[in-house]
Order: sequence, then C-alpha cells, then structure tokens
Amino acid sequence: MKRLADGLHLLSGFPPNVMNVYLADGVLIDAATRHARRRILRQLRGHEVSAHAITHAHPDHQGSSHAVCEALGVPLWAGEADAPAVEDGRIADRQPSHPLNRLSERAFAGPPHPVARRLREGDRVGCFTVLDTPGHSAGHVSYWRESDRTLILGDVVFGCHPCTGRPGFHEPPVFFTPDPARNRESARKLAELEPALICFGHGPPSRDTRGFVEFVRSLPR
Ligand SMILES: [Zn+2]
Repeated sequence: MKRLADGLHLLSGFPPNVMNVYLADGVLIDAATRHARRRILRQLRGHEVSAHAITHAHPDHQGSSHAVCEALGVPLWAGEADAPAVEDGRIADRQPSHPLNRLSERAFAGPPHPVARRLREGDRVGCFTVLDTPGHSAGHVSYWRESDRTLILGDVVFGCHPCTGRPGFHEPPVFFTPDPARNRESARKLAELEPALICFGHGPPSRDTRGFVEFVRSLPR
C-alpha cells in the first residue's frame, strides 16, 4: 500500500486506481468488489484495523465488506440512509433502472452484512469527520480531515474518465446515480472546503485543489 498522508494509505489494486480502498487511521474505507477480498486482506496484514466504513452501498465499494469484517472481526459502518441496502443487499433496486446495475450487482456485490454504526454528518471516524453527500446513493458519505484538508469523497466526483480510466474530474455516470442534481449539490459542498488532497473511489488521488474547485463550479445548476 501507498502512504498518501499522515495515517492515510491507499491499497494497491489491479489495474491501479480503478476501485480504490483506503486505510485511514486504522479504519478501512471501502472494499471494492467481492473479488478483491484476498488482495485487501493480504495488504492489511501487520496493520491495525479497528473498523470498516464505506462511502456508499454500491457493489464496487461494499463487495468485500462482509468478507473483510468476518475475517478481521471488525464492525461495519455506513451512512444512515445506505444502511438498509447494506443490510438487505438489494442494491440495484435502489439505483436507476438500467441493465448495468443488475449486471454489476450480480457480478460484483458482496453478501449483506449488519451495520454496527449508522454514520451521520459530523460523526468522527478516526481523525476524519463524516459529511453527508447524498445523490450518487441516498446515504453516500465523505470523510474530511480539516487539519491537513484531506478528503475521501467516494463517487461524488470521479478522478478518472469512467470508460477510459484517464485521470481527470468527471461526474459519476447518470445510470449509476439516482439523483444527479443532489449529487452536484454534494460536490459543491465539498468544493467549498477547498481540499488539498482529494481521494476518489475511482481514479488516482489528486492535489489539484484549483482544478477540482473549477470543475465543480462548471457543473450545471
Ligand atoms: Zn464506485
């Protein structure tokens, strides 16, 4: 894994930066697809993990959540409004009706798992503060550390092109996003923070504060 900042690591994946998993102050953030569990657990060996939290209940973020929590004996935390999807596993039912969502659930989703803590705006996760950032899912949350302005923002903004994987700021695809207008509001809330380090669900981490803020400003209202 790669150190990004104090107490913050990005696990390696293959291909790199396609589905990001972070270790933030001993909390594992997101868990890629269910096929990633071995690579996640291997990299966590020798590291202290106290809990696992997700940014949102989509198959490419909760896929290995159940396996990781079982293997490490740690609790699973999720945004309050995403907890039902985590616990009943019916993810595609809560997404726009598009064949890719059914396909993605079948190919990538992990089993349901009980949510031990329902995260709300202002809650603490390690040194990070929970921010409600709904839109891409009903209970999408981001994690913010004011002291060094580090932001883990899940899929509110992509750090690469969804098809080509080329680095750059993009909105998440509409067919994966039940409420794009609300997601844009969430993006504006995050841009106001002027993050120094931006850690995406998809795409390489970025320190381009200005580019990020300008991208979000360019989004239609
Ligand atoms: Zn995603």
